[in-house]
Amino acid sequence: MRSEEQKIIYLQDYKPSDYLIPKTEMWVDFTPDRTRITTDLYVERQDGAEEGAPLELDGEQLELVSIAIGDEVLGAGQYELSESGLKLLDPPKSFVLSTVVDVEPEKNKSLEGLYRSSGNWCTQCEAEGFRRITYFLDRPDVMSVFTVKMVADKDLAPVLLSNGNPVDSGEMSNNRHFAEWHDPHPKPSYLFAMVAGKLDKISENFTTKSGKKVDLNIYAEPGKAELCRYAMDALIRSMKWDEERFGCEYDLDVFNIVAVSDFNAGAMENKGLNIFNDKYVLADPATATDQDYALIERIIAHEYFHNYTGNRVTCRDWFQLCLKEGLTVFRDQEFSSDERFRDVERIDDVKGLRQSQFIEDSGPLAHPPRPSQYEQIDNFYTTTVYEKGAEVVRMLMTLLGKETFHKGVDLYLDRHDGEAATIEQFVKCFEDVSKRDLSQFQKWYTQAGRPQVSYSTAYDAESKQFTLKLSQEVPATPGDSEKSPMVLPIKFGLVSNNGDDLGWDSVEGAEVNDDLIVLDKEEATIVFHGVSSAPVVSLFREFSAPVTVQTQATLEEDLHRARLDGDPFNRWESLQSAVLNIVSPSMALDGPELDVDNLEQVAVALSQTLDSQDMSPSFKALSLRLPGYQDYAQRVGVNIDPDRIKRIKHEVDRLVADKLRGQLVTLYSSLHLPDTYEPDATQSGLRSLRNQSLAMLATLYDKQIFEMVDAHYRDAQNMTDRQAALSIMCANAPAQAEALLDHFKENYADPMTVFDKWLSLSASIDDDRTLDRIQSLMADERFSLETPNRVYALFGSFTQGNPTQFAREDGAGFDLIADIIMQIDKFNPQVAGRFAVAFRVWKNYESKRREAAHTALERIKQAENISPNLSEMVNKTLEG
Ligand SMILES: [Zn+2]
Repeated sequence: MRSEEQKIIYLQDYKPSDYLIPKTEMWVDFTPDRTRITTDLYVERQDGAEEGAPLELDGEQLELVSIAIGDEVLGAGQYELSESGLKLLDPPKSFVLSTVVDVEPEKNKSLEGLYRSSGNWCTQCEAEGFRRITYFLDRPDVMSVFTVKMVADKDLAPVLLSNGNPVDSGEMSNNRHFAEWHDPHPKPSYLFAMVAGKLDKISENFTTKSGKKVDLNIYAEPGKAELCRYAMDALIRSMKWDEERFGCEYDLDVFNIVAVSDFNAGAMENKGLNIFNDKYVLADPATATDQDYALIERIIAHEYFHNYTGNRVTCRDWFQLCLKEGLTVFRDQEFSSDERFRDVERIDDVKGLRQSQFIEDSGPLAHPPRPSQYEQIDNFYTTTVYEKGAEVVRMLMTLLGKETFHKGVDLYLDRHDGEAATIEQFVKCFEDVSKRDLSQFQKWYTQAGRPQVSYSTAYDAESKQFTLKLSQEVPATPGDSEKSPMVLPIKFGLVSNNGDDLGWDSVEGAEVNDDLIVLDKEEATIVFHGVSSAPVVSLFREFSAPVTVQTQATLEEDLHRARLDGDPFNRWESLQSAVLNIVSPSMALDGPELDVDNLEQVAVALSQTLDSQDMSPSFKALSLRLPGYQDYAQRVGVNIDPDRIKRIKHEVDRLVADKLRGQLVTLYSSLHLPDTYEPDATQSGLRSLRNQSLAMLATLYDKQIFEMVDAHYRDAQNMTDRQAALSIMCANAPAQAEALLDHFKENYADPMTVFDKWLSLSASIDDDRTLDRIQSLMADERFSLETPNRVYALFGSFTQGNPTQFAREDGAGFDLIADIIMQIDKFNPQVAGRFAVAFRVWKNYESKRREAAHTALERIKQAENISPNLSEMVNKTLEG
């Protein structure tokens, strides 16, 4: 156990560095068994720092070969070496520190720092990987101008890339060559990157709005470059969009992306040299689904957008992570909304938020978007920092209006260009442009937990007065029971009988501007005068604040909104909430019988949605997707029995499918798609509706329908349809699914991205043989625990997509995952830590499962040599 040694790092302890490194020159010599890195740091003591203050450089797993200040080689007494770094005891005010270190990328399975992936050298430095490359002040507020000279064998590594612009290259003796890169923009070390290897590329160029030509290249492993075309298209669209919407123009001569097959996360925004998990780059219609394409588009955009929000203006310290991530996720969401269907994108984003961030917020790992303490920063790359962080930025836009919001972003990018900023500085920019006090709003960054909102309404026909009472409460989260009210921007409408929004003559009781109520107190009574008839209130349109509405609307109100609400989000939301309200009580232990009559009314409303002329196919497809396991489990809350939830969910799906049977069959057979596949929003919407119709029909367990599914698989002309058919079979007919999965593996799963789909689908089957099946999947020669994509595909799908088998009553599912986490922890603590979140809901299970999960967690906790990452996660999960 190393957990006792773990140091907690506090935001309040932040102190600027005594030294800065305005310039860094590196010489990197790649050879097959080790890489030698020579670094010259131009060190300056900051004004105000104590004379003779020691310089403590971070450094891990480095073999120091030599060290010198200027021409003077340092002897043993002049510095101190430890496992975590190098300390210079009495350095001068201004000097050049030269170090030579050796590292062993071949042995690096943690995929942090410099490592090899399929023979190619690449780096991952965020958050603290650079200290595994050379000794440095590895913190985001120390920014340096980097020049990097790379040397390697021409055959082993014909391609040599680093940040910035290429400045020189040439031949050397012994079949070796070099390339020199210079990045004129000062950057923190976490944005440093190098790639050396055998890679193919595709190239395009882009002319910025001021007329500068930029070379664009996407590199992939040999033979895969043509699969990068869509990513290139997405990159060009992103560059254009960022100029038009945010005025951000690219600032180097080249922009390179490299796709690698071993990568812990999705992608990394290194300045001028983004490195991607190849899953988010490679695509063609035969191997990628519509959803894969959409993700590629979004992640390419996200990393590109970081060039301003993250790179030009970076974070002062890691507590400010959501400063770059929340803002950049918001930007990529907006990009997708502008490129695709805004209403559908919003629904998808909110579904994602609820299925991950809401669970985090309600459990032992709850934390604010800007935490005030951490042990391992790797564990804080969470959905709260990213997705909730984006919601906070979106609320700023809602509150201030789009125009003022954009002025605020402009000011932020201008005022802090080239700096390492904080959340306070970010919010201050919006205060300055809007003249609005945002100090209470800032609680969204510092207070964990999700407001629970209740409301009631009354209408007085005689006085034409409509009264809306609103209240909010933020529930306690681990370590924080004292909560204060948040600022809630509530977009709303008063929906009339015919669906039009009703107006009013005057209003009192809260700040109300057009379609926006601002609730900043625990409660408010808002009176609207001059409302001509009794409305149904529609609150939180477009999901204008990340809250949970506790008040259950009546079925009539929900169905009224589902049919007539002017806001597509609330139309969708009302239908979902109608189902949840009707069904969830039956899912609790000893809950009542399912209310079939009410459910039939929902089916009628759904049927009307399907017939509606003014909703898009993708919207209809989303509506057809009834609440999933996670939605129900969150509603049930405690004493969860996954088998019961799943059984009743099947009953509900079948009942609705039975009511809609004729309509679904017609939809499935009448929707025609163009012969040429395009991954755009229109075509993917049609495919999605067609596939969702079939998915719903399959819940009827009808032989004829299964034949349709089988034919759908065999006739599929693209991966979207093929995977949809397989997934429908896996969910409803395990025996038939196995035969199809064998066929799929045999015929399509040659690229690893498709092999991963095969793993995921196989692990999602819920039957008695699931655990045996997983053992045999792990035994496949192409499976490796060392490759994160394999692990995410197999075990991510199992823990999230197969809740009944993961949370088996006998605990075998928990045990399996505990074993896997402990194995991975030995070489890749980041991934192990991330996987431990599978247990975050353990206290919500009924007693038997709760006990079994507890035992599994304790077993991890007691394991020998558990990493600090995993230890922090397990301890918090157990204690919270
Ligand atoms: Zn990011």
